[in-house]
Amino acid sequence: MTQMNKKQLETRAIHGKGKGNEHGSLVPPIYQTSTFSFASAEQGEQRFAGNEKGYIYSRLANPTVRELEEKIADLEGAEDGIAFSSGMAAISSVLASLVKSGDHLLISEGVYGCTFGLLTMLKDRFQVEFDLIEMDDEAHIRSFIKPNTKAVYVETPINPTMRVIDMAMLSSVTKDKGLTLIVDNTFASPILQRPLEFGADVVIHSATKYIGGHGDLIAGLACGSNDFITGVRSSAQKDMGGILGPFDAWLLLRGLKTLSLRMHRHCSTAKIISEKLRTHKAVEKIYYPGDPDFSYHALAQKQMDDSGGLLSFELKGNKQTAQAFMNQLSMIKIAVSLGDAETLIQHPATMTHAVVPEQERQKMKISDRLLRLSFGLESPDDIWEDLEQALNKTTEKVSKRIK
Ligand SMILES: *Cc1c(COP(=O)(O)O)cnc(C)c1O
Repeated sequence: MTQMNKKQLETRAIHGKGKGNEHGSLVPPIYQTSTFSFASAEQGEQRFAGNEKGYIYSRLANPTVRELEEKIADLEGAEDGIAFSSGMAAISSVLASLVKSGDHLLISEGVYGCTFGLLTMLKDRFQVEFDLIEMDDEAHIRSFIKPNTKAVYVETPINPTMRVIDMAMLSSVTKDKGLTLIVDNTFASPILQRPLEFGADVVIHSATKYIGGHGDLIAGLACGSNDFITGVRSSAQKDMGGILGPFDAWLLLRGLKTLSLRMHRHCSTAKIISEKLRTHKAVEKIYYPGDPDFSYHALAQKQMDDSGGLLSFELKGNKQTAQAFMNQLSMIKIAVSLGDAETLIQHPATMTHAVVPEQERQKMKISDRLLRLSFGLESPDDIWEDLEQALNKTTEKVSKRIK
């Protein structure tokens, strides 16, 4: 076991384990190198044999990337971490190290669109079965576990409907059945939720989102036990090659320093805007873990330190209403992704979840009127001003049509 770091999360996101850098450099250097030279042929032999610690080639490990991996592991309370070129590289490498043909996976209904795409490919081409199920009820979950079930893979909060899964309940099931529990923690970040504390085995992040935080890179992370991460590193990552470059790792180390500050701001803005949105007459329904009327509010409070910086809502009307509303926005950008300094809005049915067949989408409760907002770091007043003027124009159009 690794030594538990007793400092607070925001301190650890800045200092890590506080090893210090060469020459007293405050900021870690970027080891922009593909390979590492050996002092002798024998040393090379010993490194390859694993008898001597040290770097060999940057697809296997790189010091800048390694610093990031150690930091995310520390924040998630994991033994080890591993960085990837994207969230999808993290997800595909983790799954590839776990499953073989004939295995079965249980997946939370409403996962990230490309995760669904990956599962479909695994099924069609590699005979890995999966069931997408609601994870509210323990007996329901148990009824889907088969002798060949290998792992349970969930997002919480779930993209984009913000449903929350009880990780403690779920991990009691996976532990009982000897299954690996994988949690995609992208929406919460380790500042708001640390799945390993609730019994998860593996945590995945699209670091493109909150951890990077500035919309300037694509990256993924995974954390878990030493054995599991070593397995992923020495098979799926080494041989499939989805590694993170040193410069992007360095940007992520920089992003981590302000992660806590940013998360708290994203969360407080979401709370302010949610209260305004829920009473606006153009809005049918909001999906936000911080809303006291939301069915998953109590659960979110139990396992998250705050309610997150995302909110989805349904407009009264139809797909055209939703698109017309988006087109009225002036400051808020129409873009997928989340966790950036800029407030972003997207239409899941035609964007992030367009790859999900209509029928599955309906099961996931992703309607054509559903929109997802990722609150940025702008003034909440300016964000609301933009939303309100667009909502008012949308209401005018809807009421005109009704007349
Ligand atoms: C964006 C995202 C991913 C995929 O990450 P990339 O970095 O874009 O590959 C996976 N899961 C969730 C919840 C995401 O939001």
